[in-house]
Amino acid sequence: MFRTMLFIMGLAAVLIGSAAFPQEHADPLLRPVAPDRAARWLTPQAPIKVFGNAYLVGFAGLNVGLIKTDAGLVLIDGALPQAVGAIEANIRRLGFDPKQIRYILSTEPHFDHASGIAALARDSGATVIASVPAAKVLRQGHSDADDPQAAWLVPYPPVANVRAVRDGEKLRLGRTVITARATPGHTLGSMSWTWRSCEGRRCANMVFASSLNPLGADGYRFTDPAHAAILTAFRRTLVVMRNMPCDVLLTSHPEPSGGDEKYARFQRQPVPNPYIDPTACRSYADSSAQLLAKRLAGEAK
Ligand SMILES: [Zn+2]
Repeated sequence: MFRTMLFIMGLAAVLIGSAAFPQEHADPLLRPVAPDRAARWLTPQAPIKVFGNAYLVGFAGLNVGLIKTDAGLVLIDGALPQAVGAIEANIRRLGFDPKQIRYILSTEPHFDHASGIAALARDSGATVIASVPAAKVLRQGHSDADDPQAAWLVPYPPVANVRAVRDGEKLRLGRTVITARATPGHTLGSMSWTWRSCEGRRCANMVFASSLNPLGADGYRFTDPAHAAILTAFRRTLVVMRNMPCDVLLTSHPEPSGGDEKYARFQRQPVPNPYIDPTACRSYADSSAQLLAKRLAGEAK
């Protein structure tokens, strides 16, 4: 009898499981992208209010930003399709409704930050905002051959409702003004986003920065004369990042700006706020410059 019950319980579990999965996979916008590679980024993490109107609603290895304005929400990046349910749940945990998202800003059109955007935009009706080169990639759902990592990249659901913005362009939602700062290098279309956030009488320059990691797929050389434009742009980006008004830096992957340590410290002791660090953008630019110098030295061998 006991064994029969176990068998029935097991069968029920299998049926429930199989009922849940085909349903999820039947939605093409939620079909997992590169699940083996992505798993290491998607360790769950409780959502937090970082400072003022800025929140994190992503994962231990992948930041997804949220800005609350008096006219709706702004999401920064969309992670992967298999992460969309957790992002929306994190937004609800903070007391917001994902349907209030008006804009989704993109830092780069690689699948780890952008393949969940189509589902998030559909669920919320949000307009997606990206640089001119990134908007093209988002609309087609795959990078072009000129991306340094082209050979590694995985296609993803194209995004229909994308608006392209240029360096320095301002986006207004309610009383919040977000400025686009072009930071090409890691991808041609990388964009960082800055805004002012206040908590009581204290205000801070917020930066949500794109990845500045000089990665290239096998055989790609930043020093190839054909890639001179992207190398020049990369060097300019490092200067831009170094000099950006910056009190709080969040990066698309947390580790390169010490975001993993800041989050752990914030959970232990939120005062003084470990995210407030006026040297953060300078440090991020300097450590990224070192990675680029190392990469270029390696290519010269
Ligand atoms: Zn990338």
